[in-house]
Amino acid sequence: MRRSKLMSVVAGVGLALTLAACGGDGDGGDSVAEVEETEFDAGTTMARLQEEGSITIGTKFDQPLFGLKAPSGDPEGFDVEMGKLIAAKLGIAPGDIEWVETVSENRETYIEDGRVDLVIATYTINDERKQLVDFAGPYFNAGQMIMVLEGSDVESVEDLEARGGSVCTARGSTPQQNIEENYPGITVEAAAAYGDCLEPLRNNQVDAVTTDNVILSGYVDQNDGEFKLVGDPFTEEPYGIGLKKGDDEFRNFINDVIEESYENGEWEAAWEKTAGTVLDLPEEFPTVDRY
Ligand code: GLU
Repeated sequence: MRRSKLMSVVAGVGLALTLAACGGDGDGGDSVAEVEETEFDAGTTMARLQEEGSITIGTKFDQPLFGLKAPSGDPEGFDVEMGKLIAAKLGIAPGDIEWVETVSENRETYIEDGRVDLVIATYTINDERKQLVDFAGPYFNAGQMIMVLEGSDVESVEDLEARGGSVCTARGSTPQQNIEENYPGITVEAAAAYGDCLEPLRNNQVDAVTTDNVILSGYVDQNDGEFKLVGDPFTEEPYGIGLKKGDDEFRNFINDVIEESYENGEWEAAWEKTAGTVLDLPEEFPTVDRY
């Protein structure tokens, strides 16, 4: 249960970025949400984190728009903003968030081991992962696509398979699993992270890179004229916030924060500040799945 003592009114897009707006090393950057003083039931994860005054969040460090480590040392992106938003509702300022790099294949382990309190990392909710961890959300819906060199004549994933082509993707990701299971004519080169797929694509060691459309769009945007997306999205990737299995109170709390962010403009402000600089605002918010 959340009982807000001090309701901070932050509504609408283009709201003032009030927190720690000075920027610079180690202050965690600014947030679209104000830090709230809330009272939580004793014994909950929320009460513990509030008491500790810090939270550890796993995110990507090599994905522009969602999670990219900036020169300041702090990561930036839509996932990072979602993390700051949740922290704010726990009374934790951006500078008191410890960011840990998680790659696709170690997310469940980091949550299970307690190395992180949350994973917010373009993390698709699915039944297989739900055996090991729980998910709040979804807070965003992506879809898998392929990215090729600007000069390539590959038109789609089906076309790539017909040519017996190859793709690079991240180990332990749903895109890897999907290609291996459903497109057996494509050779998969699995890397530790998507950023490691760019050089092999540039050097023609692979014909394409595959992952979610929004991740690939970040690479297209950052590497002017080098890459392009082809075909249509061919999966549904609902992004969730991963947490320890069985912590229903914490999951409910995060689901509340997500739903409130739809209503009070914080989701949209977080989007416009990050992914929204390149991508269109989605037409609707995903419905939170309180399973
Ligand atoms: N959303 C997909 C996944 O969770 C691909 C992106 C990623 O690997 O982070 O596996």
